[in-house]
Amino acid sequence: MIARRFPPWLVASFFVALAVSALAALYDSHGRGQIIEAEMRANSRVTPSLVAALWPHFGTTLAGLETRPASLLGHHPDLIAVEEALGTLLAEQPGLLEIRLITAAGRTLASTLASEVGRENTGLLGGLAARNGRAYGRLTADQPWPTRGDATRLDLVTGILPLYFDELAAATPAEARPDLVIALVSDVSQAYTRHRARLFNLVVIATTLLGLTVAAILVAAHRAARRVARAERANAAREQAARLDSLRDQLTGLPNRMALTEHLGRRPASGSATVLCINLDHFKLINDSLGPAVGDRLLEHAARRLETALAEQARIYRLGSDEFVAIAEGLTPGDTGRIAEAVLAAFAHPFEIDGNEIAATASVGAAHWPVDHADLEQVLGCADLAVIAAKRAATRRWASFEPVMRTVADEKVALMTGLRRARDQQQFVLHYQPRLGGRSLEVECVEALLRWQHPEEGLLPPARFIEALEDSPLILDVGRWVLATACAQAVHWHQMGLHGLRVSVNVAARQFNDDDFPATVASVLKETGLDPALLELELTETQLITDAAQSLQRIEKLKNLGLRLSIDDFGTGYSALSYLQRLPIDCLKIDRSFVREVHHARDGQIARAIAALAHGLGLTVVAEGVETEAQAVAARHWGCEQLQGFLYSPPVASEAIPALVNRLRQADGQQVTI
Ligand code: C2E
Ligand code: MG
Ligand code: MG
Repeated sequence: MIARRFPPWLVASFFVALAVSALAALYDSHGRGQIIEAEMRANSRVTPSLVAALWPHFGTTLAGLETRPASLLGHHPDLIAVEEALGTLLAEQPGLLEIRLITAAGRTLASTLASEVGRENTGLLGGLAARNGRAYGRLTADQPWPTRGDATRLDLVTGILPLYFDELAAATPAEARPDLVIALVSDVSQAYTRHRARLFNLVVIATTLLGLTVAAILVAAHRAARRVARAERANAAREQAARLDSLRDQLTGLPNRMALTEHLGRRPASGSATVLCINLDHFKLINDSLGPAVGDRLLEHAARRLETALAEQARIYRLGSDEFVAIAEGLTPGDTGRIAEAVLAAFAHPFEIDGNEIAATASVGAAHWPVDHADLEQVLGCADLAVIAAKRAATRRWASFEPVMRTVADEKVALMTGLRRARDQQQFVLHYQPRLGGRSLEVECVEALLRWQHPEEGLLPPARFIEALEDSPLILDVGRWVLATACAQAVHWHQMGLHGLRVSVNVAARQFNDDDFPATVASVLKETGLDPALLELELTETQLITDAAQSLQRIEKLKNLGLRLSIDDFGTGYSALSYLQRLPIDCLKIDRSFVREVHHARDGQIARAIAALAHGLGLTVVAEGVETEAQAVAARHWGCEQLQGFLYSPPVASEAIPALVNRLRQADGQQVTI
């Protein structure tokens, strides 16, 4: 506190002065004490000779003089003799200036200074002490002395001692009152001057040493303080850099999610803001097929394009993966279209990365603060819902938030809750749809198709829930249940005499991508005891082309179990034909959209070409969705080995299958020929 108000050197000087003064005072008092003590020792040697010189001759006289008036003392003949004796004694003692005899009552009986005779010394403390039997010495510096003239100043020690004429009393001074008190005044100027010189030296040395020490401490403290301040500055700079780093996305250099959270916590000063959620379309697919390094480069390029497109208009953040957010302050909802189109325009041209030309488009969801929500963070949630809608939209790739989107999202949450309950309460059931031999029209296989026996809404088809289910990890549990139920059912049918009837099971992408999937299938086959040759798994094209190397490994593992694999809905996905050649697939199912439109020459040609291609690769071909005789005829014409569709049977409950198989066998009488 003091150090804060005054400069440190001033505070330090004050304490040095204080310390030196205390030391000097101590030393002075000690030195004076020593001078007094030395004088008192000398005085105590004078006392016995004084007693010896006076008592035998003047003892009685001195005792009697105590009560005599002061004016008469000087004229007493014995006193004149006493004073002479005192004078002689004084002459023998170098340094003694005066010897004075004082009565116990305090009156000066005799003195080597005539002017002192008869004076009352009652106020003299020392005299009192001596009268009480104790010796006392006092030093008074810089005093005039009557016999030395006014200019001379002396340092004096006045020693006051008790005198006992009786030796016994002298031995026990505490009990006996002294007969007389003797005052001896000595000149200690020399000793005192030496003492003062030593004191001065001490002060100089102490001040110098202490001063130097304190100065050294001050300098060291100052340097240490400067070092600490430097370190603190460096720390602060490091912390600031780390903070900035923590707010920056390492890949693109854009502000990250943490920075966005900070931004969302601030109320936009302009009073309005448009929040855009920007996602790249099919980024996962690009990442999986071209590798994460290319994916990273694409994100970097995308970030730069966004910065160029929205420069000055918006602050851009990358939240992770392909998710970007832009916040443009001061815009009205009317500006949304312009800014969203600006973002889409930034992705209009393909990206040139490592010699690859990548056509990556983006989808944009927009929401406005405070129109869509009073809380900016909630507005981000609105923009997030809008981008989902934009991704689904067939035409435009941007969407503004509408309250109905929240309803859709809420419905999805409710659906997920319902699906979880459905799994826990075994509300799922399987229906089976026959696949018939193209010519024999015998049921060769049945496809297991999932249904949800909803407690309120009745039996729900997959169209109502399969997308949400496949999006969630729940599909792993439900998918295993489907597989196990279908396999157990197939075993049951064989036991009933439906020998050789195969069962096909649909596999979701999440199931197929699970590393444990081959092991799951193996354990289900083992548990149910189904001949693996009687199980077929239906995969989709998209599943197979994402991460081709991994797919190949998994497919080989599955094939090694001895089961069959088919490609479902062929023609609706990417139809990358090369994998058909590389992968050990057994069967290809032509999507029903091609079968449906047989009377359109173009679709008919596509289906025919697909079938020819599949046959060329040695695959079995199934026509899906055969609803009419014309479609069946066309499918046979393309050489499809199997037909599946409502023409023969919709999916039915498991109990209906044996009768259905038998009915179709009997109908089989009319062998089909083209
Ligand atoms: P999918 O695997 O292509 O199954 C064939 C779908 O076509 C079935 O619809 C079937 O009822 C329908 N279908 C068959 N013949 C005809 C026809 O002649 N005309 C018409 N219009 N439709 C026909 P469903 O049962 O509604 O299943 C729809 C999709 O749900 C399935 O398509 C499949 O992708 C998925 N799915 C069904 N069960 C499962 C399952 O257990 N797991 C997974 N992951 N997906 C499943
Ligand atoms: Mg299928
Ligand atoms: Mg299909």
